Amino acid sequence: MRYHESIIDLVGNTPLVRLNKVAEGISATVLAKVEYFNPGGSVKDRIAMRMIEAAEKSGALKPGGTIVEPTSGNTGVGLAIVAQQKGYRCIFVCPDKVSTDKINVLRAYGADVVVCPTAVAPEHPDSYYNVSDRLVRETPGAWKPDQYSNPENPASHYHSTGPELWEQTGGRITHFVAGVGTGGTISGTGRYLKDVSDGAVQVIGADPEGSVYSGGTGRPYLVEGVGEDFWPTAYDRSVADEIVPVSDKDSFQMTRRLAKEEGLLVGGSCGMAVVAALRVAERLGPEDVVVVLLPDSGRGYLSKIFNDDWMQDYGFLDEGGPEAVAGDVLARKDGLEH
Ligand code: PMP
Repeated sequence: MRYHESIIDLVGNTPLVRLNKVAEGISATVLAKVEYFNPGGSVKDRIAMRMIEAAEKSGALKPGGTIVEPTSGNTGVGLAIVAQQKGYRCIFVCPDKVSTDKINVLRAYGADVVVCPTAVAPEHPDSYYNVSDRLVRETPGAWKPDQYSNPENPASHYHSTGPELWEQTGGRITHFVAGVGTGGTISGTGRYLKDVSDGAVQVIGADPEGSVYSGGTGRPYLVEGVGEDFWPTAYDRSVADEIVPVSDKDSFQMTRRLAKEEGLLVGGSCGMAVVAALRVAERLGPEDVVVVLLPDSGRGYLSKIFNDDWMQDYGFLDEGGPEAVAGDVLARKDGLEH
């Protein structure tokens, strides 16, 4: 018999798939690390496993304890799956703008979800931030992973994503491209690849135009899961050699092409990362191997990116035009505020 003891044994070891049609005319090899093959459907299963195991070791999370985290997305799913398999309770706190589908996914995995009003100031007692802090204080055995500051977030990528890429490419990877949200993926994977290659692998961050990583102030953008209006400590500013800002329109158009032309139904941050990867790959030669990480599946975005009306309302459907080239400016690391 060949079987796994539990679904959480399947976290990591995701496949690398070559991008063909969208990379036409490019001589470098462009490979995608497809993270929706994780059991919770995203790259965040990796950090959930490692943050929970480290908290068990340190004693911060005790048998029968409760995990409390303000999250509505992929991190919540990863935590919920690992928690149920290990016998912990989960309480997630989300703002009321989060879709009921996302909340129902977390509840389906057995998590409790507390929904807070979006329309109150952060200092209001009912705000998303205050409610999660209060739940941590008032719940016996509560532990808050805090993916934005937890060093186990980048460490999970240093110990899994990075080594997997080095092994899967036989050490031939020359460029690694990833979107930046908490910064865990790029910091951990990028640091490992730099260490193992004596600094040869180039690390490129993809960022929504307007976010702090590419020199913005946090101006709103629609791509989800990436970009910030503050600098999380999970992000190591010394790893990325370059940050490429990408517009929503370019990100979403590429996301749709990935489904249509590569058979990869992935999320908007994946389209964004691929746009950045192709911009980098365009200036490279046949010996170069560019790996771009695709964090999640497109299933969570069917009513947005894959809905023509929604795309049309935002003016994302028409081809060309000045916005389509707006992301062409590359912000060098040196040009960023430190
Ligand atoms: N894309 C999606 C869809 C995400 O949920 C995240 C995590 N916030 C990222 C990209 C960015 O990953 P990281 O937090 O490791 O920077």
